[in-house]
Amino acid sequence: MKIVLASASPRRREILSRIAYPFDVRPADLDESRMENEPPRQYVARLAAQKASAVAATEPDALVLGSDTAVVLGSRILGKPADSDDAKRMLASLSGERHQVMSGVAIARGDKVLQRFVTVTDVDFRRLSDDEISRYVATGEPLDKAGAYAVQGGAGRFIRAVDGSVTGVIGLPFEETRDALYALGAPREVGPLAPDAVALRFRSVRGEIAARAVASGRPAESVRLLTVTKGHPVEMMAAAIAAGARDLGENYVQEARAKRDALGDGGARWHLIGPLQRNKAGVAAGLFDVVHTIDRLETAQALARRRSDVARDLDALLQVNVARDPAKSGVSPDEVPELLAHVSGLDGIAVAGLMTIGPAQGDASGAFAELRALRDQLRGDGYDSLVELSMGMSGDYDVAIEQGATLVRLGTAILGPRLSRQEAQQG
Ligand SMILES: *Cc1c(COP(=O)(O)O)cnc(C)c1O
Repeated sequence: MKIVLASASPRRREILSRIAYPFDVRPADLDESRMENEPPRQYVARLAAQKASAVAATEPDALVLGSDTAVVLGSRILGKPADSDDAKRMLASLSGERHQVMSGVAIARGDKVLQRFVTVTDVDFRRLSDDEISRYVATGEPLDKAGAYAVQGGAGRFIRAVDGSVTGVIGLPFEETRDALYALGAPREVGPLAPDAVALRFRSVRGEIAARAVASGRPAESVRLLTVTKGHPVEMMAAAIAAGARDLGENYVQEARAKRDALGDGGARWHLIGPLQRNKAGVAAGLFDVVHTIDRLETAQALARRRSDVARDLDALLQVNVARDPAKSGVSPDEVPELLAHVSGLDGIAVAGLMTIGPAQGDASGAFAELRALRDQLRGDGYDSLVELSMGMSGDYDVAIEQGATLVRLGTAILGPRLSRQEAQQG
């Protein structure tokens, strides 16, 4: 079934690429003025539906997605600023206030609007100085944005809190739109993604992560995105690198070596995130910049021995089995201080933080909060170099960022379903 996006917004295109691909882009050309006394919520819902309907009338077999986002302050709607002075006035009016971002979504086919909803998200701005406002407006970023700011961009430091749909604030509420499109029969992704889909999805996920950092009161750049490429061919890795991926995660030493032979380092840092056997430590020490899975002193010693002839230290994270699940890798939290004391003494390795894998089922926030508390306690004990918290995968990165993750490890969200390990090694 054909999918059409009735919007010219690059952000919406990026978010939709994580739900359906390929799709056509056919912006609707409408009079977007608001009716007298029309409540903002109704206004965005109406515009979304009109955009979807206008395009659906000319594409009778397609599912057409229309959307409209408004920044609402009291009863006023802040559209795109007319010029720099208008942008400054808008930002001054948002300063120190809470406003709402309303995102209307409508899906139409033929002459019917099949689905329509609005997400409402509260955004709290801290008080801004005139100087800050002027400097931000001078970057040019606000000039084409409703409300004169981008949450995932330079306005991140203006924001105290975001409560609701983070992707809705960016321009299209991801989960709600995905569920609605699938319920209406949009095809789910199958098979390898095209390189341009990888690029769109990478940018969407990177923007969302920056916005989620901001939403939990942290700087946008405080969370790094590690693109997990295990089980994906080098062509897709090259597409992710071209889109801006600078940290790559691999689980298997052999697979990583074959990819390094094909790609070089791609200008990226290579992270080992799978279990490391001691007999592979020598090869791993030469391939990776960061190893996330140290849970035994012997493995760390083997890495350190091979690393002493490389100029730069290997960054190491200790993998912690927060769930204390005997079936899982990682050292139990009570054993971390002793392992840390030993590994910290090795030449060639620098312990940079802790890593964990969230529980397969249920809410991961407790496990992530525990890892963070453990890191903070060890820092208090004098291990100042422990800054990283590697936690959060495609299914739980949102709660991981809320709990303080500095590195999230995402595969499926960016690259789609992966091949089995055998297929990947043959391919
Ligand atoms: C495979 C893997 C990931 C990525 O998983 P997705 O669910 O595809 O995001 C992250 N961390 C580790 C340790 C993994 O093995």
